[in-house]
Amino acid sequence: MFRQGLLYSVLYGNSQSVASMRIQRKPDWLKLRLSGTAHFASTKKLIAGYGLNTVCRSAQCPNLHECWSSGTATFLLLGDTCTRSCRFCAVTSAGFPPAPDPGEPQKIAEAVRKMKLSHVVLTSVTRDDLADGGSGAWAATIGAVRVENPEVTIECLIPDFEGRYSALRKVMSTRPELLNHNIETVPALYSLVRPQADYARSLEVLRMAKHEYGLGTKSGLMVGMGETERQVQEVLDDLSAVGCDHVTIGQYLQPSLQHFPVQSYVTPGAFDDYRRYALASGFARVQSGPYVRSSYYAAENV
Ligand code: SF4
Repeated sequence: MFRQGLLYSVLYGNSQSVASMRIQRKPDWLKLRLSGTAHFASTKKLIAGYGLNTVCRSAQCPNLHECWSSGTATFLLLGDTCTRSCRFCAVTSAGFPPAPDPGEPQKIAEAVRKMKLSHVVLTSVTRDDLADGGSGAWAATIGAVRVENPEVTIECLIPDFEGRYSALRKVMSTRPELLNHNIETVPALYSLVRPQADYARSLEVLRMAKHEYGLGTKSGLMVGMGETERQVQEVLDDLSAVGCDHVTIGQYLQPSLQHFPVQSYVTPGAFDDYRRYALASGFARVQSGPYVRSSYYAAENV
């Protein structure tokens, strides 16, 4: 799984730039299947009609066709421009993020109602530029979704808010059914692929949600970025130690030549091994497979 030579080039910078590195051919198990239905067009039209952003589109999720065709999507709050520059992420970080749209919470709430969702996943770009990190918009959106959809369960895939407790408290005190915060990768790769994040801080977000607020918690990571099997197991151990209930593990896919290159395509058998390891570590729910993403089949896994 670990392509030492290639990773060494990235870490220590030989004459070859990351952008010029060759892209590995995808194995057969990653050949995408498109399954369009009339639902896809109606989901797309509804989201466009409200002028909303989705992480499905902004992050170039490979499951977009499947999810939108089944009438679900993950809403992206606070604009489409992120203030961080993780090297694996397709969400744009170019330019200044727009001022938050005060009408966005109600638009999302109405979209959730029209889509007849029983479970909604909300996420956002990271807004380190805002005094409250965007936590006020998060709380307003959760509140509006609840008023408009009293039966819906809410999953919040939140950023770390730079570890600011006031912002984390503002969101956690709304008591979403599930508090999701992605650990994304192994700590050894943080400085390389998500330099503005902090592994211990992310664990603390999950610990706080579980032990201070009693929330159901979820996290996820991508594999295929140069991590070893043992390093993934250690992350699972760390997540389990802070009481994380649910973990997702999926294959990293390079969004463009400017992004961090895929180091390996993890086999379905290796994903099964991670699932077994995670279940044995105490997670109540584990999704592990090449196309698994944080919000993939989220409604079926609450
Ligand atoms: S897995 Fe999540 S982000 Fe991807 S298309 Fe489905 S709902 Fe959207």
